[in-house]
This record gives sequence, C-alpha cells and structure tokens, in this order.
Amino acid sequence: LAAAGAEANALLPKMPPFDYTPPPYEGPTATDILKKRAEFLSPSMFYFYRKPLNIVDGKMQYLFDEHGRRYLDAFAGIATVCCGHCHPEVNEAIIEQTKRLQHSTIVYLNHTIADFAEALASRLPGDLKVVFFTNSGTEANELAMMIARLYTGCHDIISLRNAYHGNAAGTMGATAQFNWKFNVIQSGVHHALNPDPYRGVFGSDGEKYARDVQEIIDFGTSGQVAGFISEAIQGVGGIVELAPGYLPAVYKSIKKAGGLFIADEVQSGFARTGSHFWGFEGHDVVPDIVTMAKGIGNGIPLGAVVTTPEIAQVLTRRNYFNTFGGNPVCTAAGLAVLRVLEKEKLQDNAFVVGSYLKDRLKALQEKHEIIGDVRGRGLMLGVELVTDRRQKTPAKAEILHVMDSMKEMGVLVGKGGFYGNVFRITPPLCFTKEDSDFFVDVLDISLSKL
Ligand code: PLP
Repeated sequence: LAAAGAEANALLPKMPPFDYTPPPYEGPTATDILKKRAEFLSPSMFYFYRKPLNIVDGKMQYLFDEHGRRYLDAFAGIATVCCGHCHPEVNEAIIEQTKRLQHSTIVYLNHTIADFAEALASRLPGDLKVVFFTNSGTEANELAMMIARLYTGCHDIISLRNAYHGNAAGTMGATAQFNWKFNVIQSGVHHALNPDPYRGVFGSDGEKYARDVQEIIDFGTSGQVAGFISEAIQGVGGIVELAPGYLPAVYKSIKKAGGLFIADEVQSGFARTGSHFWGFEGHDVVPDIVTMAKGIGNGIPLGAVVTTPEIAQVLTRRNYFNTFGGNPVCTAAGLAVLRVLEKEKLQDNAFVVGSYLKDRLKALQEKHEIIGDVRGRGLMLGVELVTDRRQKTPAKAEILHVMDSMKEMGVLVGKGGFYGNVFRITPPLCFTKEDSDFFVDVLDISLSKL
C-alpha cells in the first residue's frame, strides 16, 4: 500500500525548487489559535479552508505553515505583497527606519514622507501630484469621496454595483455587494449597472452601460454630482474587467455634471495589471483623484490619495488629519517597494507571466466544463466556476472542494465575486512561469477530482 501511495505521489505535479528553509517554529499550533480566535476575536474574521492554515513564515512567492511546509502563494494577502514576502530590500528599509525613528507625526518634518510623496507623484500622469497619506484603502476612499464633495459642493457619488471600496460608513455605502445595511441607508450614493462583460446585461458594450450613469445623473440627482468612483478591474467582486469604452464614456458624463473621477487603484495599482503601472491607464482616462493601498507597502499598512494641486486646496490645515498616515516606517517601505518594482522589472514580469498563465488557464477552460470564464490582466486574473455554462449557475460548493484540494497539493489561491465562485489569482509579482505551470497543473487535477 505504501508503495502504491509513493507511486501516486510521484505522479503529482512538483512545486518548483526554492532554496530557503524557514527557522523552526515552536509557537502555538493551529488548534491553539483556533481556540483563541473563537473566544477573543470578532466573528467577522473568517478563513478559506475547512482545516485553516497556521502560516508562520513567508519568503517571496511562498508561504510556510507551522510544520515548515511550503505553499505557493497565488493570493499575496489579497493582492498586497507585490514584491514578494519579506523581500530583503523592503525588510532592510523597514528595519533601518525602525532603528532611527518609528513615529513622530506630521507636525514635524521628516524626509521619508516628502521623498515618498515625490516618488509617487512621478509615477502619476498629468497634474496628479499632491499626496495625502492614510492607513488603508478604506480611509483613502473615504478621504477621496470627502474631497470630491468639498470640491464640488455636491453630495451625490456614483459607484458600480459589485464594486468594493472599503468598510467604513462612506465606503460601505459606495460598496454594493455584501448587502451591508450601509448600502441601503447611506444617502447620496447611487449604484450604476456593472459593466461586466460576462454577467452584465449589455455584454461587452461599454457605451450602453455608460448610458445608465447618464440616466442616474438625469433622473436621480440635481444634474450636478460630486463624482464617480470605480476600480479599473474589480478585485473583491471577482476580477471583473470593465467593458471596453465604458470609463471614457462615463468620464464625459461625470465631467459634464461637474463631478470628479476617482480611480480606486487599491488592487489594480503598483504594476499588478502588467501592461500599465495603474489600472486606469489601460482605459485611456486620467482621473482627478487616485486612491491606493495594498501593494504600496508590500504588506505594511499604508494608503494614499493623490490629486491635483487645485483640488487639494479644499483640504486646509485643520479639516483633515490622521495620526499614522505617512508614518516614517511605512513610507520607507513604500520607497523600497518603488525601487524594487523598478529594479526587478516586476511590471514586465507581471505582463509576461500573467499572459502566459492566462493562456494556460484558457486552455484549461477547453478541458473543464466547469470553468465558465477566464479573465483579468497581468497578475490579476479570475477564473469563474459555473455548474452550467449557459445559465452561468455559480459553482459555490465546488470551488470550496477545489480550494481544499489545491491547498493539499501546496497551492493557496483567493476566491471572491458576488456569488463566491471566482478564483482570484493575484500572486506576488515575482511569480514565475514555472509557478504558473505548477498552479495550472494543480488546478487541473483538483477540477478533475470533482
Ligand atoms: N478598494 C479596493 C479596490 C479594495 O480591494 C479594498 C480592499 O480589499 C479596499 C478599497 C479597502 O482597502 P482596505 O482593506 O485596506 O481598507
């Protein structure tokens, strides 16, 4: 029996070799942590796997559990660890800054915050060069919506159904997918038809969806709006690419109504889409306000809002302040992230490896009826599972089996979408073609087991 088991194992796909052994772990086990979680942590904390993993180490595109077992990380802590886990240059920058100064707050000068603001501005087009630092994507979007309201003197914001913009009062209102009560009671937020080429009512016709935004302005507002907020590719919503032509058409309507265009680059920024540094650049528009977080610090809590000097004028000395935004350790990490992205050509890698992976996933779609759609750009890819391709019935239970099976073979991947039936493949941008082969082979076997 043992020989048969060994033979079967020999046929399993092999994870690419990686020369790193994590230090021995002697801390609490998964069982101990689960007990504490049940008693001391909010019930809103959830986990993907039926037998949750205790992750104790990370190195580049790999994670390690309490037993030292290596996993290929195709989720990157929700599209966050862009340079790779514990990237040496980012680590070094954090450690060095920690030795000098961990926190002082914005009433004093410190060079890291100014250097990082300058570096970010140099990455953005047009006049987008004034930066406000926050601690998260939620806060960045809250601030962006407040700026749009202050600048225009209007209250109405339009966001997309199926968008995710955060979890504080305003951003919950702009988010339209979890049936949060705030979606309903938040005043002044209108949710437009989602220009989703796979599930949307107008297929890939971006201009038709854009007419819905014009109708919201005409029928649901005074004719003037504060702004429109959108991701370039919806992340939590299940890697939904916006139909071509949509954003430029909406942009015209919003401008005509005096509003500002807010690009939420929390997931799609920092080279993730491969073809561009920012997701909006793939849509040929220049926003008035750009919000960012996640990849900005490779996992260090940091967010930012960037806008033009004219718009930035609405924030005066006293009406916006936060304690940690622009913390020197976080901004030092951010500077290192920009250096690493450039030095290691991670945008090019996201493009080349992402295209390769997408081609392989498309080929897998030919083989497995359950794959309804493969989409996304660069290393922000989605695979939607459906039990019936014509009806597009979400394969909600099946995806859980596949995820568990992939985990058993050493691959971790995210899931999301309105129905929870979409794989979200958003690995660190140092992901390789060999990693992609391993990922697809493991997915193939796991789907075959259904
Ligand atoms: N915007 C987008 C597109 C996101 O994906 C997220 C988080 O997933 C947020 C905003 C909120 O960011 P945070 O979780 O850092 O508050």
